[in-house]
Amino acid sequence: MMLINICALKDNYIWILYTRNNSCIIVDPGISEIVINKIIQKKLCPKAILLTHEHQDHTDGVKIILEKYPEIVVFGPEEIKNCHVHQIVKAGDTIRLLNNNIDIFSTPGHTLGHISYYLKPYLFCGDTIFSSGCGRVFQNNYLYMYNSIQLIKSFPNQTILCCAHEYTLANLIFAMHILPKDRNLIKYYKKIKKKIFLKKNIFPCYLYNEKKVNIFMRTDEFYLKKWINFKKNKNSFEIFCYLRKYKDFFGAKRD
Ligand SMILES: [Zn+2]
Repeated sequence: MMLINICALKDNYIWILYTRNNSCIIVDPGISEIVINKIIQKKLCPKAILLTHEHQDHTDGVKIILEKYPEIVVFGPEEIKNCHVHQIVKAGDTIRLLNNNIDIFSTPGHTLGHISYYLKPYLFCGDTIFSSGCGRVFQNNYLYMYNSIQLIKSFPNQTILCCAHEYTLANLIFAMHILPKDRNLIKYYKKIKKKIFLKKNIFPCYLYNEKKVNIFMRTDEFYLKKWINFKKNKNSFEIFCYLRKYKDFFGAKRD
């Protein structure tokens, strides 16, 4: 199984997963042209499109891709049913594609109906988790988002998180603002900066590393509470809310 991440729009990633016999699935195509070009270039045969949530920067490419490849089956959550989706999927469902099982998980918070797709070891998590950060919480769904992040933390450590945006440096700058002396953050920041300078792909993004460099996954750490001067009675969820709301105004990056 091979994986490509296509950089699209301003900072989106569109994922294409393909097999040796060139069958592929496409995840969250917010734009069509660049995806079609890649399919032609790699001589791929697209079987399905997987959509994680209702935002247009994840769905706008579907219509034109379908016009070119009408045999594609589009999967997505209920919230997106009017967006050329052929099969609505929900938590607990398993779909069979590329000779593999893909399990569906509910990961609300960014939107209420957000889902993620797991084909071991890949987790297509849309706008739930980004490298060193997490998606913006709309409609005040902080508890949903917190629980979705806890769910992702429970996946095997070797899980590869296939996030839908590239915000790593901005996320690390925020994290280092909160934890300026954290060695893991400093080390990862240097590594990512070098990769970006050399125009290298920052992926793969492993869960075991995110547990070290993603402060939204580390809200239960005693010393994180200490750094942000929370009293002892503040729990992990309250720390999460504090960090997420703070991030909304820090650097004003829309994620
Ligand atoms: Zn979104």
